[in-house]
Amino acid sequence: MTNGTTRREFLGSLAAFSLFPLEQEKPDLILHNGHVVTVNPAEPTAEAVAIARGRFFAVGKSADVLNLAAPGIRKIDLGGKTVLPGFIDAHSHPAQAGLMHLRMVDCDLRSISAIQVALRERAAKTPPGDWVLGFKYDDTKTEDGRPLSVADLDAAVPDHPVHIQHRGGHTTYSNSLAFRKAGINEKTPDPPGGKIDRDPATGKPSGRVAEAANVLFENAIPSHFTRDDYRNGVKLISKMLAKTGITSATEAQGNPTDLRAYQDARDSGELLYRAYCFINYHFIDAMIAAGVRTGLGDEWVRVGAMKLVCDGSISERTARLSTPYEGRPTDFGILVMTEEELYTYGRKAHLAGWQIGTHANGDVGIDTTLRVYERLQRESPRPDPRFRLEHCTVVNDSLIARIKTLGAIPTPFSTYVYYHGEKMRYYGTERLNQMFALRSFLDAGIRATQASDYPPGEFIPMMALQSEVTRTDTKGNVWGPKQKITVEEAIRVGTLNGAYASYEENLKGSIEAGKLADLVVLGRDPFKENPSTLVTIPVERTMAGGRWTFES
Ligand SMILES: [Zn+2]
Repeated sequence: MTNGTTRREFLGSLAAFSLFPLEQEKPDLILHNGHVVTVNPAEPTAEAVAIARGRFFAVGKSADVLNLAAPGIRKIDLGGKTVLPGFIDAHSHPAQAGLMHLRMVDCDLRSISAIQVALRERAAKTPPGDWVLGFKYDDTKTEDGRPLSVADLDAAVPDHPVHIQHRGGHTTYSNSLAFRKAGINEKTPDPPGGKIDRDPATGKPSGRVAEAANVLFENAIPSHFTRDDYRNGVKLISKMLAKTGITSATEAQGNPTDLRAYQDARDSGELLYRAYCFINYHFIDAMIAAGVRTGLGDEWVRVGAMKLVCDGSISERTARLSTPYEGRPTDFGILVMTEEELYTYGRKAHLAGWQIGTHANGDVGIDTTLRVYERLQRESPRPDPRFRLEHCTVVNDSLIARIKTLGAIPTPFSTYVYYHGEKMRYYGTERLNQMFALRSFLDAGIRATQASDYPPGEFIPMMALQSEVTRTDTKGNVWGPKQKITVEEAIRVGTLNGAYASYEENLKGSIEAGKLADLVVLGRDPFKENPSTLVTIPVERTMAGGRWTFES
């Protein structure tokens, strides 16, 4: 149903094609006496919604909607609470994060000793010799002011190999036994594109390795995830997302195993959010050969864009910039794939009807990616390709003009200013006014989205709202105030714009009759809240497809 369709036409088309008797088209649930923020410009607020078979059946005044109630229908009095459309996280890694939460130690802790305790507890439950794995460690967030060392990890867990991933995903930290199992010692050279940090006195590994050196560990760690593990990972992360009001998420670096995990979780009733599953470019030939392209699937599990990676990371300070990092005059970051590689894979996908989503953080990375997209569209024009710029962090006026002309979609980090404030100084005050540039995107008419990039970023939508509206970190530092947007704009970015990014703006993203019944009930009204406490607004309930996926 398009936005322009009237309700009568909508109901008429349902009646014409439905095999159900007309009585089935009565609502089965009514939520009334609420403050419903619809994100539908034709009817911005309402008091009530009626839901039938997983979709909004009617939206309007409580009295009118209650009039539709047949005897015995479920009615919920919202007591004046605020209702928003369900949030859409347009770039995240939920299935992969779910698997990590299932099997690894969450090292998002505030001291090295707290991390040691958590590792020791896991080791006590792990057979000797088996790996103890950790994730979400962040060297900038522990009170010790220094990174984890091999000695810290040996002291905590001497009899199991220990291997911990940094939150950003590009560096890892290991104990002595893990280095031995990976075959790394003082004689091992740095592999191409990788680095092994060493004790300057002895030359022995000091704990941290970066980028391509991680492969030595990946080869040594046995992967024994079963098909059930993958499904259980989706089940676990489903509950975590639903609790915060998320009803849809993009799996931004997906592969065929993730796609199967999503289908398995959907079949078992454990999938609580709608997944738009990107496919990594390594699998694109097989997918095209199987006749698959973007859009295949249904409103719960859908094949998304092909994923390419142009440059490095913001949180680990490797994004490719035109001017160097603050205090590091020769460091411009890195390019991961060449322009020619991006074009070769991009062309294949573009010709086969795929959407393309390219990781591009720095202004040089974005410029390179746009040049590839512009060339594809010049050589082989396609209507509405909706090229995506994953992250699209550091921009300028000319990049914004090109993004607008191309109709491309940026998915900037939504929670970074608030959550990763301590990393912002590497970019400098001036550059921050051109980063996560929602004000500039919206002013140019570009449909930017809400995106967490979890695990690297936090996924809580209320934190995204606060970060985008205040541009203030947890310590009160303001970063890039020129890019502030309003609460109303931030809600649209987190809902309808996310739906547009997956070609689903006619299916979800706002509360309108005919759309999927995805919504969140909040404990307080974000429009009346002090912007500096938006993150504390509790989510009371989340609904996806007419079913409560979370109730507090
Ligand atoms: Zn990502």
